[in-house]
Amino acid sequence: MNIILLGPPGAGKGTQARHLVETRGMVQLSTGDMLREAKDSGTDMGNRVAEVMARGDLVTDEIVIGLIREKLHGDTGAGIIFDGFPRTLKQATALKELMDEEGKSLDAVIELRVRDEVLVERIAGRSTCGNCGEVYHDVTKPQPADGKCERCGAADFRRRADDNEESLRNRLMEYYKKTSPLLGYYYAHDLLKRVDGLAEIKVVQASIEAILDA
Ligand code: ADP
Ligand code: ADP
Ligand code: ZN
Repeated sequence: MNIILLGPPGAGKGTQARHLVETRGMVQLSTGDMLREAKDSGTDMGNRVAEVMARGDLVTDEIVIGLIREKLHGDTGAGIIFDGFPRTLKQATALKELMDEEGKSLDAVIELRVRDEVLVERIAGRSTCGNCGEVYHDVTKPQPADGKCERCGAADFRRRADDNEESLRNRLMEYYKKTSPLLGYYYAHDLLKRVDGLAEIKVVQASIEAILDA
């Protein structure tokens, strides 16, 4: 099964994608993670996108489509979870073409619905393990008291530079202007499924699993 997790910043896409990777052997393709990797390793492209990401603007379609193209070839395990891609109609139509070329198709587009006020709280409290990427939240999923990641044991928690109020406000505007039209696009393709992203992490997991097993 190949699915898209669609939703604004902080909706829980990364958290849910990681769970599906662990329980189902699916492959997570997060353009945000790929771009941050490029930035951290100081590649040409990484340097070019750093400022754009810090502001909370979208990176060009060409760059992210190029990143995804490279990943669709190889072994995609029990299926792909697109996390944070596509974010524009142009990316969505490019994805369709790339999937066609590989003889693959999309099975569902799952929208995680969360109110804006809650997104602000989620982003403000977010941290991740620098070693394995496990996602934490100061209130809803606190870092273990012993200071070590519950998944890999590393003591290297990080906060994202773009998880500040100004950048988040901009990321939300970008989402409503450029990404939310995808909801109509995928609804028209009969792929859209909606999940209440305000529920507890485990409840959201169960809703997504029910969709995958249907
Ligand atoms: P979040 O987890 O908050 O939704 P991501 O990690 O997915 O954020 O993305 C972080 C940043 O990377 C975005 O604000 C944007 O600058 C860039 N980015 C990630 N994916 C895309 C994409 N598909 N198209 C354009 N820009 C992207
Ligand atoms: P996204 O990838 O969509 O930007 P994340 O998965 O990084 O979102 O989640 C954003 C923050 O919200 C993280 O700190 C995460 O621990 C927390 N979070 C995710 N899902 C839930 C949930 N259902 N209830 C409460 N907090 C959540
Ligand atoms: Zn870890």
